[in-house]
Amino acid sequence: MTETIIKIDLKQTPYENDKVHNRWHPDIPMAATVKPGDDFIIECYDWTGGQIANNDNADDVRDVDLTQVHFLSGPVAVEGAEPGDLLEVDILDIGTFEESQWGFNGFFSKQNGGGFLTEHFPEAQKSIWDFHGMFTKSRHIPGVEFAGLIHPGLIGCLPSKAMLDEWNTREKALYDTEPDRVPALATLPYADTAHMGSMSKEAFEGAAGEAARTVPPREHGGNCDIKDLSRGSKIYFPVYVKGGGLSVGDLHFSQGDGEITFCGAIEMAGWIHLRVNLVKDGMAKYAIKNPIFKPSPMAPKYDDYLIFEGISVDEYGKQHYLDVHVAYRQACLNAIEYLTKFGYTKAQAYAILGCAPVQGHISGVVDIPNACATLWLPTDIFDIDINPGAAGPEAKVTSGMDVPLSKDKE
Ligand code: ZN
Repeated sequence: MTETIIKIDLKQTPYENDKVHNRWHPDIPMAATVKPGDDFIIECYDWTGGQIANNDNADDVRDVDLTQVHFLSGPVAVEGAEPGDLLEVDILDIGTFEESQWGFNGFFSKQNGGGFLTEHFPEAQKSIWDFHGMFTKSRHIPGVEFAGLIHPGLIGCLPSKAMLDEWNTREKALYDTEPDRVPALATLPYADTAHMGSMSKEAFEGAAGEAARTVPPREHGGNCDIKDLSRGSKIYFPVYVKGGGLSVGDLHFSQGDGEITFCGAIEMAGWIHLRVNLVKDGMAKYAIKNPIFKPSPMAPKYDDYLIFEGISVDEYGKQHYLDVHVAYRQACLNAIEYLTKFGYTKAQAYAILGCAPVQGHISGVVDIPNACATLWLPTDIFDIDINPGAAGPEAKVTSGMDVPLSKDKE
């Protein structure tokens, strides 16, 4: 039987588990050691460490403490791994816990986190998704069901000290260009809520104030939120410290490209079954700076799409120069408006784009002044026919519960 090398207890806070951490730092002690060729199982909290409940009230999303995220399981040392190697990681399987057959999606309030379309959805909202084997549906969003393309949102190796310093310098420089911005331009180190695994108190004092937050993806991988990094895929990570120090968390039952709702995909606690191997000196041999990966041989078979175009002219009519961020926002807004014609609220439509196996593509980046991005909405996930036709939008989803909105604070 495959050994579970990191266990968690959902009834315990992640701060009580010394094989869990929520920052990146080269001195976080290894939680376990494996050999090249080994396969093993790691259990993971949901990314917030249990801050979000399975109920019909979004106040917990509004009040979430984002300085605590993400809770990662690890780091795992691989014998023989040295800086400059590539750590080959096979994601053999990912699963849910028997006692936790649900996940959540939410939009953060603009005052606490925000999101891709935060100007349009400034208040916290959430939807709960129940798992039925490999399928999921939500009591908050009627008429949609799909297979999960289950994946870790966050996986990567520990940075070296030099790399950590570089991250901190460049992110602080960006932050300082507009320090009062809401939401902030970057998440800087924050010692108060840092959890550094089994690090000693003395070491913690020195390290917590410089340990990197886990929010952005970086050279080591980290929070890439790539839905196609699903079970069955194989990743090659650059190694920066002796042993590599592989950590993983932020498991997603499903996610649309872009994770546009930011809180986030369908977020879940669960387990991941991995196998590791080494490519000695692989970084130089293959000119690797950021991780590379190979996709799974298995994927949900949704091959009919309605594809929404967006260009780099924003919703206020302003022209932007080849800006794919603006273009993808427009594609998303166009899809949301379209879905309202079938009975969905805008919040329900936004949640569908964040959760379902939606594809996002950069379609054109040279035709000045407009970039073109496309959002691919799978049609087969809907109970009704959502294709356009001469008769207009015929079917409508039966009215279900809307995505719950957070209450105003007293
Ligand atoms: Zn996530």
